[in-house]
Amino acid sequence: MIDISRAPALGTSAVSDLFQILRDGRPRTRTELASITGLARSTVAIRIDALMRLGLVAPTSDATSTGGRPSSQFTLNATGKTVLAVDVGASHVHIAVSDLLGSPIAEHAMTIDIAEGPEPVIDAIISSSRSLVDTAGRSMSDVLAIGIGLPGPVEHSSGRPINPPIMPGWDRFDVPGRMRAALGIPVLVDNDVNIMALGERDLAWPDADHLIFVKVATGIGSGVISDGYLQRGAQGIAGDIGHVHVPRGSDVACHCGNRGCLEALASGPAIATALRERGLAASSSLDVVQLVKRGNIDAIQAVRQAGRDMGEVLSACVSLINPSVIVIGGAMAAAGEHLIAGVREIVYTRSMPLATQHLQIVQSKAAENAAVLGASILAIHFALSPERVEAMVAALGERATAV
Ligand SMILES: [Zn+2]
Repeated sequence: MIDISRAPALGTSAVSDLFQILRDGRPRTRTELASITGLARSTVAIRIDALMRLGLVAPTSDATSTGGRPSSQFTLNATGKTVLAVDVGASHVHIAVSDLLGSPIAEHAMTIDIAEGPEPVIDAIISSSRSLVDTAGRSMSDVLAIGIGLPGPVEHSSGRPINPPIMPGWDRFDVPGRMRAALGIPVLVDNDVNIMALGERDLAWPDADHLIFVKVATGIGSGVISDGYLQRGAQGIAGDIGHVHVPRGSDVACHCGNRGCLEALASGPAIATALRERGLAASSSLDVVQLVKRGNIDAIQAVRQAGRDMGEVLSACVSLINPSVIVIGGAMAAAGEHLIAGVREIVYTRSMPLATQHLQIVQSKAAENAAVLGASILAIHFALSPERVEAMVAALGERATAV
């Protein structure tokens, strides 16, 4: 039996270094790991043992090549621990217990009214999270962290919503503090569009280091990934493109108090308003999408124009960020190619040729799951960071010493 209490003396950061190598899911032998790290094989064995005790690494289950002997290859144990992922919208909450690759083990959706304020909504999330962990056949001690997306600006340093327009009573509420006190695990909170960008990238564009995810629904916002990292800006409001002025809309009032904002022209409700003025029955993004799917020419033209309006703002973003992918998501993305075609028409015309040479403008593949997937990725990035793995190994050593 290897004495785990020796692990901290061996250097816990080196244990997490080994784990970061195994996180890619590729099985490796102790000999391969020794050769990659330059460590002695016996040292690798001690570190693998510590990671197996934490449930983060497991032997591969392929017995065919080992003739019945225990496997000599090790990899990430994706189901050894879990995270909780929570997508909070204006009227819905979607919760998942996910494995360490972000795949859901159990999911639950419920309706809420965000305008009721933080306490009833957070209490409902806490009790549903507990019962979902039970349903998944796991315990809260298996859950490493919880990631939450909120439909408003979130101050990154504190995880508190800041003046969120559709969330009365939530301004500066200590969401992470309240959740952590109840569940006893680390809580990460971010804006919903930011986590959608993380989810979309993980699912469909893992190699894209420069990606803009645009959510078009009741509002319009974007999540920006630059050089592989989500860009939150100084106050956490980076990517909030909904209130950039669009020339066509100088006489259109926006709920923010200005005129001619992108959101006042191209959001689902804005398009629905324009269609009502033409005598069509439409009040939401869903109504507009259904009209488009039925081939209504007025709706198709309005959606294409909304795409052009978005293109006006996005061509400036292309000049600033030089993305390789722009993903259009949110409820209005279900209008499909008509919206995307409008965006492409303007972006490809207005941007410098070098910026659009390899630029793809596409519909979201993660679709309605982008936010919950992104919330799990937010929690996983935190929980499996070198610092957190180091802390878990150190705690293991302390427990072994105490025994
Ligand atoms: Zn505005």
